[in-house]
Amino acid sequence: MDISRPGSEEFDFDWIVVGSGFGASVSALRLSEKGYRVAVLEQGRRFADADFAERATQLRRFLWLPAVGMRGILRLAPYRHATVLAGVGVGGGSLVYANTMYRPQGDDFYRHPQWAELADWRTELAPHFETALRMFGVEPYHGERPVDGLMRELASELGVPHGYRHTPVAVYFGQAGKTVPDPYFKGAGPDRTGCVRCGQCMLGCRYGAKNTLPK
Ligand code: SF4
Repeated sequence: MDISRPGSEEFDFDWIVVGSGFGASVSALRLSEKGYRVAVLEQGRRFADADFAERATQLRRFLWLPAVGMRGILRLAPYRHATVLAGVGVGGGSLVYANTMYRPQGDDFYRHPQWAELADWRTELAPHFETALRMFGVEPYHGERPVDGLMRELASELGVPHGYRHTPVAVYFGQAGKTVPDPYFKGAGPDRTGCVRCGQCMLGCRYGAKNTLPK
């Protein structure tokens, strides 16, 4: 593979990217923007919104275990001391994640001893956080449910009464259930539908509200 110049004639592709989730999609995009020929390899299916499971008990549509006919979006890999959950399908982990997009608030992350000496990470990463949050259409969920009250109570009990805040999520809220032309990328993206608050995000969103790599 000749990586010194785009368009080497010796191979069908200059780069092969394994996966199509959060990291792999960005890598594939940037490489192709530079003029390289890029192949993306992914396991599983390409899902339409209506393909996602309606309930977690619909195991064939939720889990990935093709040997027994399960062709969903979540693969469970149990090991002795840990079980790894991974996304399967075009979009990778973005299909099955819970939409939460936290940005580190305090200094613990930026000034961790393993990397604090290398750079001023808060300044270094700030523009990239901005890009990621914009690309994922992140905004706080402003609904109030019983669980929000419980979380406030817990924050008080833990001695950080102002520690609770609404979760930042990568979801198109708009008007619940209303489909509109792409609201994010000047019309270049797909139509989106306002979140209906069904709470089934980890099954894959059947309404087109969750912001994923395919979206
Ligand atoms: S419509 Fe349901 S599954 Fe989709 S983002 Fe909203 S709560 Fe999650």
